[in-house]
Amino acid sequence: GRCLAGVSGGETVILDGDHGQVIIDPDAATFQRVKDSQARNLRVSERLESLENMDSETRDGQRVYVYGNIEFPEEVEHCRRRGADGVGLYRTEFLYLGGNREPSEEDHFAAYCKVLKACGDLPVVIRTLDIGADKVPARIRDRFAASQNPMLGLRSVRLSLQSTPLFKVQLRAVLRAAVHGNARIMFPLVSSLLEFRQAKMILMDVMEDLEDEGIPFHRDLPIGMMVEVPSAVILAEEFAREVDFFSIGTNDLIQYTLACDRSDPSVAHLYRSGDPSILRMIQMVLKAANKHEKPVTVCGQMSSDPRFIPLLLGLGLRNLSATPHSIPRLKEVVRNISIPEAERIAAHACTLDLARDVEHYLLGELGRLCPDLVV
Ligand code: PEP
Ligand code: MG
Repeated sequence: GRCLAGVSGGETVILDGDHGQVIIDPDAATFQRVKDSQARNLRVSERLESLENMDSETRDGQRVYVYGNIEFPEEVEHCRRRGADGVGLYRTEFLYLGGNREPSEEDHFAAYCKVLKACGDLPVVIRTLDIGADKVPARIRDRFAASQNPMLGLRSVRLSLQSTPLFKVQLRAVLRAAVHGNARIMFPLVSSLLEFRQAKMILMDVMEDLEDEGIPFHRDLPIGMMVEVPSAVILAEEFAREVDFFSIGTNDLIQYTLACDRSDPSVAHLYRSGDPSILRMIQMVLKAANKHEKPVTVCGQMSSDPRFIPLLLGLGLRNLSATPHSIPRLKEVVRNISIPEAERIAAHACTLDLARDVEHYLLGELGRLCPDLVV
């Protein structure tokens, strides 16, 4: 509204979504610059489209799996078109956030079947409900009103463990739907071994119920957890013995490690994926997981950012889960780098002691590897 006040009609207006800018009546040089950048973006996206159906392999032939993050079952088609190797994070809380009633077991079941069937043999990681903090359905908002500090309050798997009937409805649907595809289940925001064991125990109870009722379900689906709380990183070694896989949720992990609310603009500059503490944490998780031969994915926003791909590969990561839109770009980085080169980049990044320097260095390396991904 504010910028439209300067427009009366007939002016040339540039809407630059990449840089969040509106330019009214640009001069000739600006106009040309925007035209050129538009043409380059078009060339890049045409070229990237050709990568959608190619496997992502490094220059030296290491396969890297790139999965998509989705929130709604409808997104699975887009995800497949973008060349995802499956769904690495299905955020199921969106079933609760829409609508004005609690989703039924059948609502869950229908949504999960849709995603699983669309993916065929490809894996789909169904994350159990992650309500609370920034994601609270209006109809139960009063249950959260008392918390002064919702990020540290009743959210995510904590809420599921305190609302067993609600949790069981979801688990029943996941187990039943799992018959129709390659499903995995994942618990969010796990902060102690006890929580993981309790969640798993409830899952086993639900299996027993289904068994008693003679309802078909899949018994052996892999059970994993999100690593998004520093305590889970510190105890990664212990967790690695009990889980089938880890998925590092950098969005929350960064927020809890740097004690920085990512939605608060006054501290947004402190929220940094490139912080040395974050690199160290990812390293710790990979080390523990490797020791116990458990796969690790990074599914936070960090893995949708091409700058961080050489670093993550160099640290030993081979599974990324990202916004579907970014998948072709991520594949491009993977295909332009070898593992020894990624290792060299990661080793250097780990010697830097400021987030700013890490991010600046990684941007430079990306510019060298894939010049037209850096605008
Ligand atoms: C994360 O925390 O990194 C994550 C993937 O979960 P969400 O963004 O849904 O909190
Ligand atoms: Mg999270």
